[in-house]
Amino acid sequence: MGVIVIGAGIAGVSCAAELAARGVDVTVYERARAAGGRLAVHRHEGRPADIGAAYFTVSDDRFAARVRRWADDGLVREWTDTLAVFDGTTRGDDTPGPVRFAAPAGLRSLVTATAGELDLRTGRTVERVRPGPDGPTVDGARADAVVLAMPDPQAARLLDPDTPAGAAVAGREWNPVLALTAGFARRDWPRLPAAFVNDHPVLTLVADDGDRRGDDAPVLVAHSTGDLARTHDADPGGAAPAMTAALRELLGVTDEPGWTHVHRWRLAAPAGTRDETFHLDDDGIGLAGDGWGRSRVQTAWLSGLELAGALADRLGR
Ligand SMILES: Cc1cc2nc3c(=O)[nH]c(=O)nc-3n(C[C@H](O)[C@H](O)[C@H](O)COP(=O)(O)OP(=O)(O)OC[C@H]3O[C@@H](n4cnc5c(N)ncnc54)[C@H](O)[C@@H]3O)c2cc1C
Repeated sequence: MGVIVIGAGIAGVSCAAELAARGVDVTVYERARAAGGRLAVHRHEGRPADIGAAYFTVSDDRFAARVRRWADDGLVREWTDTLAVFDGTTRGDDTPGPVRFAAPAGLRSLVTATAGELDLRTGRTVERVRPGPDGPTVDGARADAVVLAMPDPQAARLLDPDTPAGAAVAGREWNPVLALTAGFARRDWPRLPAAFVNDHPVLTLVADDGDRRGDDAPVLVAHSTGDLARTHDADPGGAAPAMTAALRELLGVTDEPGWTHVHRWRLAAPAGTRDETFHLDDDGIGLAGDGWGRSRVQTAWLSGLELAGALADRLGR
């Protein structure tokens, strides 16, 4: 039977790859056409721009080892350790911090690489996960164990709230974000890798995707406030004029963009954090993802890894 992992974001593929490495038979179901989840790219004329996570940071030794292998394979590079800061529309002092990593082909490429040789079934939306006397079932089919590697509200749709996993995800609030990608004819903004935007009614972050990608393309990506995303939930494209105007005002861009694209993330990040790094109950149903800790790429990757370790131990692998 083996283990079924539902969700091919970074948490799901990290979990499945570790299970496979421990000799567990594992299948990954992903509802989208491709793996990646919130490590997503928008392609304009073939060029990718990151529209989910803007970058990632590393503080865990296990993740650091993984990142070194990605770097050796040319998949990631150190981008910057200094970000600009705007308070409202006023640029303040740059803030030094941890190294931010970026991927020349987009962060999704890390998920694709991790998925590697896994048995990944895309375009497969799971409807129901239930505990059973002989192991859990996924849409009626039995498995040795099941992992739901996705935001809590998505997992809650598949589970009965009176199961341990269902109770663990019930009622957890997540916040939305809109991601605007804007392509210009030329760069006419001051050099900056990215900027935190504080106390602004429209934007929270701006990233120079050409700087991030390393190809210098005149492409900017901006993330909205949760309030703006909620206002435009039914019409995300309708937020483009306000986001574009705010972006141009912040960076002093004189040109109109040649093209824009808005992506709606209804479940961008959990409103709260948890101390546990994953959930696994006696019924063989596990939960992983960035909802298990602070919402970060590293958190999601570690959550999948640690759940895989616990499951492999339980299965005697
Ligand atoms: C706008 C934005 C900015 C961010 N910025 C940063 C940042 O700068 N740094 C950082 O470290 N992190 C950042 N993050 C967070 C980071 O992207 C996430 O922590 C990480 O990608 C979560 O991975 P995951 O595997 O837990 O979940 P996801 O990537 O959401 O993967 C879940 C997968 O499950 C699939 N799925 C859901 N339901 C089903 C179903 N019923 N059947 C089959 N498949 C299903 C989904 O399609 C999806 O592919 C950002 C996120 C967003 C949205």
